[in-house]
Amino acid sequence: MTSEQTKYTLPESELPTRWYNLVPDLPSPPPPPLHPATLQPVGPEDLAPLFPTDLILQEVSPDPYIDIPEEVRDVYRLWRPTPLFRARRLERALGTPAHIYYKYEGVSPVGSHKPNTAVPQVFYNARQGIRRLTTETGAGQWGSALAFACAMFDVACEVWMVRVSYEQKPYRRSMMQTYGATVHASPSDLTESGRKALANDPDSPGSLGIAISEAVEEAAAHEDTRYSLGSVLNHVLLHQTVIGEEAMSQLALAGEVPDLIVGCTGGGSNFAGLAFPFLREKLAGRMDPRILAVEPTACPSFTRGTYAYDFGDTAGLTPLMKMHTLGHDFIPDPIHAGGLRYHGMSPLLSHVYELGLIEAEARPQTECFEAGVTFARAEGIIPAPEPTHALAATLAEARRCAETGEPKVILTALCGHGHFDMTAYDRYLAGDLVDYEYPSEKVQAALTRLPNPEL
Ligand SMILES: *Cc1c(COP(=O)(O)O)cnc(C)c1O
Repeated sequence: MTSEQTKYTLPESELPTRWYNLVPDLPSPPPPPLHPATLQPVGPEDLAPLFPTDLILQEVSPDPYIDIPEEVRDVYRLWRPTPLFRARRLERALGTPAHIYYKYEGVSPVGSHKPNTAVPQVFYNARQGIRRLTTETGAGQWGSALAFACAMFDVACEVWMVRVSYEQKPYRRSMMQTYGATVHASPSDLTESGRKALANDPDSPGSLGIAISEAVEEAAAHEDTRYSLGSVLNHVLLHQTVIGEEAMSQLALAGEVPDLIVGCTGGGSNFAGLAFPFLREKLAGRMDPRILAVEPTACPSFTRGTYAYDFGDTAGLTPLMKMHTLGHDFIPDPIHAGGLRYHGMSPLLSHVYELGLIEAEARPQTECFEAGVTFARAEGIIPAPEPTHALAATLAEARRCAETGEPKVILTALCGHGHFDMTAYDRYLAGDLVDYEYPSEKVQAALTRLPNPEL
């Protein structure tokens, strides 16, 4: 009986009560964000125009655990705890002795892990009396999540959506509007940053970097408005640790210990959310999994970016963050994993990578879609294009196990479903998808435009 179990669920009573902060458990702290003018570490007063106090405190918290407010847990209960599945059909299809587990975050109202942080972010803003939030969105996942969370706490939501996605994914826009949000294609003529980008290129496809500039500019200009970011920052990674904490309990139910933990990385939040609780166990010597981040070859910030202080946005409005970066003026190739097209990487994850605690690799999109289709035909769930990167690495490892006979335990984050991404699947199935290798000249050129290369 139990040997054939495929779905590991937790009762509502096991919903985590606290988030896990990895920082105090690390052998050294990550380098602080710097003010671009003074090059001194930014203080709470620098961030106050953009973020509410509670989130600023979480960003720099020395505490290993932070209590999840009851109001946030109440909303989490709409879809959490999320299921952990053993991919038995996929294992059989691959003829592998590996045990493949996936933590499925696609059961949230918007279909991804993003509401895990959108909900607390809106809650803390609302509690401080903030009436309106601005943000950017690439593929539309983050914008949908913030729009949903704003509807939960009656806060207005204004989203700058990267123009290519605005055009390619109209239903993500409709979704945000259904939740009551206002959506602009970015670059827009509503902000200084947007007008500048349009002057440079009237047909600009947009980028996350430009959209962030627009949303930040708008929030900084209004007293009752703050800005919200869906990845990259410490407090975002913190909120996502509910994924890993639940997965840990669920794997224990299955009587397994992971050998490999693999996730996709755009800004790093779903990967960190799954991996950090396991990294805590690894640092404490209680288990020793390999932890692997997978990114697109078209946007290889970990594997080919420089570890340096750079801006988080294109216009240079954010603090300088030490991270793996392809340069803040990076305009990505139009790959379909929109959520992985950011020029930088979470500074905390970048630091963890520099410490040698995690590994990273890049994979091309056709291989990823192939893995997505294999997964869908075996397991039924159509993955978002982003987690197909993790699935490609999972399949590669499972096939290696088929050769060596090793029954390795692989855990991956299936961080979203692909129901709004069928245009991308269409193109893959029609044989129209091409792979992009990020050119070395561009890696070099970006280095010359770092705000302060000596840092
Ligand atoms: C946003 C998104 C990503 C990329 O963001 P991370 O912060 O790296 O997790 C990946 N997958 C899905 C489904 C997303 O919505």
